[in-house]
Amino acid sequence: MINKVNNDSKYRHPEKRNRPDNPIQRKPDWIRVKAPISDGYKKTKEVVDNYSLKTVCEEASCPNIGECWEKQHATMMIMGGICTRACSFCNVATGRPGELSPFEPYNVAETIHKLGLKHVVITSVDRDDLEDGGAEHYAETIRACRKRNPDTTIEILTPDFKGKDSALEIVVKARPDVFNHNIETVPRLYPTIRPGARYFTSLQLLAKVKELDPSIFTKSGLMVGLGESDIEIHQLMDDLRAADVDFLTAGQYLQPTVKHAGVDRFMTPEEFEKLAKKARAKGFLLVSATPLTRSSYHAGDDFEMLREARNAKLNKLTV
Ligand code: SF4
Repeated sequence: MINKVNNDSKYRHPEKRNRPDNPIQRKPDWIRVKAPISDGYKKTKEVVDNYSLKTVCEEASCPNIGECWEKQHATMMIMGGICTRACSFCNVATGRPGELSPFEPYNVAETIHKLGLKHVVITSVDRDDLEDGGAEHYAETIRACRKRNPDTTIEILTPDFKGKDSALEIVVKARPDVFNHNIETVPRLYPTIRPGARYFTSLQLLAKVKELDPSIFTKSGLMVGLGESDIEIHQLMDDLRAADVDFLTAGQYLQPTVKHAGVDRFMTPEEFEKLAKKARAKGFLLVSATPLTRSSYHAGDDFEMLREARNAKLNKLTV
């Protein structure tokens, strides 16, 4: 199955078109999600559509959309719906993106207001076609959201800006509360799973955010089930801790279409719990690891816990 998309290509993932099919495995019993049918879901959809916004919840076919949108928790996706990279796990459409909309930052700010969000997650497609990778647009969006919603905390989930420090500095200067950049998988799998990215560029970006502004929480996420081993995951955790990352999320990779990477293993909830325990022992301030964990899943509640965990740590240091 290849999904079609309304852009200048008639295929949602033109680069994957000629790949051999990877049969989609049946999901285990513990992966059960809420159907997107509630009144809350419909209200969220209405607001998001009204402002012509994209959400990663819809574009990436997130399994949690029924649960999150019931509570109005939508994750905004800025800079259009077409990504310039071609990761083999991701269902966001790929191809040549259009111009940035100068109205988007204000529409995002207004949508947050209408949804009454206490905490918002804003992400984007990769925009390697732009000189700054979209850094100024991120900063403008953060500023507009803050102005319209001064009590809402802001979390961003960004691309790697091709490792350009100048772009990163622009975003950090706008002072998001949480800076998330997903490491996604172990370095051995980058050439096949995340071919347009580099593992160490992502680590350096996370370390640099902390260096530029230690008050910003840093966060990163990992998918399991792409062919990584447990030892490799442990090494990845050490690498993230060396980059001073505060918060680790880990969830089960689910294959979106037959043209995407196949699932190598389904980890049980008990195995996720073991992974979380290991991560906590390595010193992350917060860890969320369950089969359905995604970067923005329960992000508002997690942000509160993150703040508490940091305060508890600081209190301990001053006693
Ligand atoms: S987990 Fe994140 S991406 Fe998925 S539906 Fe919830 S808010 Fe959207």
